[in-house]
Amino acid sequence: MDTAAIKAQAYGLGFDLTGITSVGPADTAPAFDEWLARGFDGEMTYLARTAEKRKDSRLALAGMRTAIVVAMSYGGREPSGPVARYARGDDYHELMVERLDALHRWVEAQVGTPVNGKAYVDTGPILERDLARRAGLGWFGKNTTLINPRAGSFFFLGSLLLDLELELDAPFVTDHCGSCTRCLDACPTGALPAPRVLDSNRCISYLTIELKGDIPDDLRPLIGDLLYGCDICQEVCPWNQKFALPLREEAFLPRAAVAGKDARTLARDLLEMSDDEFRVAFKGSPMKRAKLRGLKRNAAVVIENVGAGD
Ligand code: SF4
Ligand code: SF4
Repeated sequence: MDTAAIKAQAYGLGFDLTGITSVGPADTAPAFDEWLARGFDGEMTYLARTAEKRKDSRLALAGMRTAIVVAMSYGGREPSGPVARYARGDDYHELMVERLDALHRWVEAQVGTPVNGKAYVDTGPILERDLARRAGLGWFGKNTTLINPRAGSFFFLGSLLLDLELELDAPFVTDHCGSCTRCLDACPTGALPAPRVLDSNRCISYLTIELKGDIPDDLRPLIGDLLYGCDICQEVCPWNQKFALPLREEAFLPRAAVAGKDARTLARDLLEMSDDEFRVAFKGSPMKRAKLRGLKRNAAVVIENVGAGD
């Protein structure tokens, strides 16, 4: 089947990048094992539990042969703020799975027979970043994100695994970081101890989203005015400064509860928010992952750091 037509269809569905690769063992499997062994996954124990499957995309679903890997921009040209760009609008999982399901149905219509397959957007044990590099979408930056030379790194990744032979794209084999160390130097908490090594235990994204308990005292001042997630190591990257894509997807536009608010205002709003108000204001938001309890915890840290104002 014509892979150029698949890519055109994917673009029409709102995806910004598309590549096609075979399923198989992940090149990054040894590095992933070492990362787990060093405890850099923090409390995200599900990663170790599903490690064997993650290290080989053939194990995700029996019989799959290829992966159509897609990327969708969440707006790297949007201004910085207390909430990471990816989390300001609606949750991306459902939206992208629906679009990948639509692509799946379109492929079946072109082939003329049912094709076994499944869409994944952080919704299964797959190292999507590894598949994306194999599909030619970019290299692993020293900040650990996948960077595309024409799109930067502010995008979500997803993949549609199919039981279908397709022409494969060449993997991305070059490294365009060179001698740059901007991301390592800019990380406020020292969460990038070496190129391409992320210590989640020190990463603001992990501390403000995934961590369930208290944020360690020594890290609290380093979080500054970041209330949910952190984009710093992507913001400083020259590839994003030059090539970050605009936001095309309306669902990812900032919702009223966060739009245009500085850190202090948002922190105060959250600290005063009831459970019912939270349910309404953050319906369908990725920020629900931290629950109101976690957001209030983060808000208290931000107020410690920036002051309560009047
Ligand atoms: S997301 Fe923030 S805290 Fe985490 S590694 Fe990047 S700059 Fe450091
Ligand atoms: S900031 Fe520099 S070192 Fe870091 S990912 Fe970007 S190009 Fe690579």
